Amino acid sequence: MSIPPNFQFTQGNLQDYVDCPRRFQLRHLLQRAWPAPQAEPLAEMERRMELGQAFHRLIHQHTIGISEEVLARTISAPELTRWWHNYLTAPPPNLPTTLRHAEIVLATPLSDHRLVAKYDLLAVEPGQRLVIVDWKTSRHRPAPSALENRLQTRIYRYLLVKAGVPLNQGQPVSPEQVEMIYWFADYPRQPAHLPYSTGQFTVDEDFLLNLITEIEGRDEAVWPLTPDESRCRFCPYRSLCERNVSAATPSEVEDELNWPAFDLDLDLEQIAEIAF
Ligand code: SF4
Repeated sequence: MSIPPNFQFTQGNLQDYVDCPRRFQLRHLLQRAWPAPQAEPLAEMERRMELGQAFHRLIHQHTIGISEEVLARTISAPELTRWWHNYLTAPPPNLPTTLRHAEIVLATPLSDHRLVAKYDLLAVEPGQRLVIVDWKTSRHRPAPSALENRLQTRIYRYLLVKAGVPLNQGQPVSPEQVEMIYWFADYPRQPAHLPYSTGQFTVDEDFLLNLITEIEGRDEAVWPLTPDESRCRFCPYRSLCERNVSAATPSEVEDELNWPAFDLDLDLEQIAEIAF
């Protein structure tokens, strides 16, 4: 089974492949619906996801100019109230102010396909700094070293170098101009700053090209199932694959650094044109 020509790679679907090729095949190629929750209790999982999405919407609306007062009147949940206060009183420090793009999509050709990502916020001083901000509402703050190795970190910085020319006065983006910041809604004064470098850009490009070449070359009817059954606790295909494990809890899902359920780029496969 091969990849369709118009298939777009994202952080979410590549993370699925790295975790388990069979999950990638079921979810992104076969688009197999399976009636199992990703975590239990389901209601709590859905509540946390909705809160996270509501927080992202608030910041997006604030970035495009809707006033704090108007937005504050839309908030009722205690978590959202706390996160909103934290965002207003302790936002990521020292961000460029010349250009601010919320929920912006960038794309670049990679091998025979496209690599696409949606950014929570890009703050740019053209010709000088391009800063990626990713808002996180998880309960725990991961170690910076773990964040450095996330596929999201590697892909977002790499893609901004490749596709950020229009944001940079038409000039090529140097990796040294790029920085990624994870800002944690419950730890607002402890954002994680992850600068980029030409050396890491080269490593990331080799890694991504090799990964996509491997995916493009797969022709099995059933792609390999992960040997690490602990991953199946976070996967709705547990029963389909006859993996006898229980569903993860919402807290475990939030702590599973590479789980893309809380990221908002899962629908990027549907994007035909760059929203730029
Ligand atoms: S249940 Fe496990 S083996 Fe099956 S697709 Fe999910 S992660 Fe892969």
